[in-house]
Amino acid sequence: MSILVLGGAGYIGSHAVYQLIDQKHHVVVIDNAETGHSQAVHPDATFYQGDIREKEFLENVFNKEDIEAVLHFSANSLVGESMQEPLKYFSNNVHGTQVLLETMKAHNVDKIVFSSTAATYGEPEAVPITEDMRTNPESAYGETKLAMEKMMKWCALAYGLKYVSLRYFNVAGARRTGEIGEDHQPETHLIPIVLQTALEQREAITIFGEDYDTEDGTCIRDYIHVEDLIDAHLLALSYLENGGESEIFNLGSNQGFSVKQIIDTARKVTGKPIPAVPGERRPGDPSVLIASAEKAKRILGWQPSRTSIETIIEDAWNWHRNHPHGYDGGVGA
Ligand code: UDP
Repeated sequence: MSILVLGGAGYIGSHAVYQLIDQKHHVVVIDNAETGHSQAVHPDATFYQGDIREKEFLENVFNKEDIEAVLHFSANSLVGESMQEPLKYFSNNVHGTQVLLETMKAHNVDKIVFSSTAATYGEPEAVPITEDMRTNPESAYGETKLAMEKMMKWCALAYGLKYVSLRYFNVAGARRTGEIGEDHQPETHLIPIVLQTALEQREAITIFGEDYDTEDGTCIRDYIHVEDLIDAHLLALSYLENGGESEIFNLGSNQGFSVKQIIDTARKVTGKPIPAVPGERRPGDPSVLIASAEKAKRILGWQPSRTSIETIIEDAWNWHRNHPHGYDGGVGA
């Protein structure tokens, strides 16, 4: 039996594949390699390159492979881009998930662990955010993820699908043994941009807004190590295999860091000056997002271990230093 990982060539999906293989699972990967990298796919995984919206392609994989459960990471995930091209997001994220669920149903595969997001909440009612709080996405991206969750909810009611939806806060870091890491083209996320500035690939990091209602005026986010995040997926998989009911869990660290605190920590970790300049607010950015992950700890038994922000930035730095041009450049290129 195999675990099917959709989006297994992407930043987070590739870490899931490595950790599943560490645990001796047989893994099948589907990825269209549009934003992912075929070099990120673990060599022991069976890799099918293609798009989940192509029903025949997906059917073919389900026919060939003996799939017991699905981990679904394949989606477009940039808030800004989703505001410019919402239909691209509805097509890939929502329609793609519909084709996936139809195919799972046809093949009697009834377990899925789904990658969702804090963006489903929008501007939070209160922090830390708990799963019972109102969802009110402020971006097309967040809206598509919420629609995907809802689709699974109704499939659970009608067909007995079992799902766990994991709402991620800010995922960062890299596999500590260094084989894989974060490589987005173009890069929009704070920690990789800060580290590219440390590598002098950028002149300065622009701080998007210094007039928020926070202690130092910059936005506060909850950063979680990608390996801890994947541990929660593996626990969610066991939970479903042991008969657990469909659930939604936040994944974060219950602690917030401002943009300025991240830059300062990166200066310490890298020993580089990392120039920063003030800039405009980025539309759609809530001022503070901090998760309560108590439910995941209580029900899944999740115990994140790489929670210090220094460790998260050190592991990311290890990847960026050794792969300054991501997967295409190689070491020191
Ligand atoms: N940010 C910033 N400069 C950048 C990129 C990001 O100031 O070049 C800020 C952004 O406004 C947000 C935080 O860093 O407050 C985290 O942004 P990121 O894009 O990494 O994740 P998001 O919170 O959007 O999921």
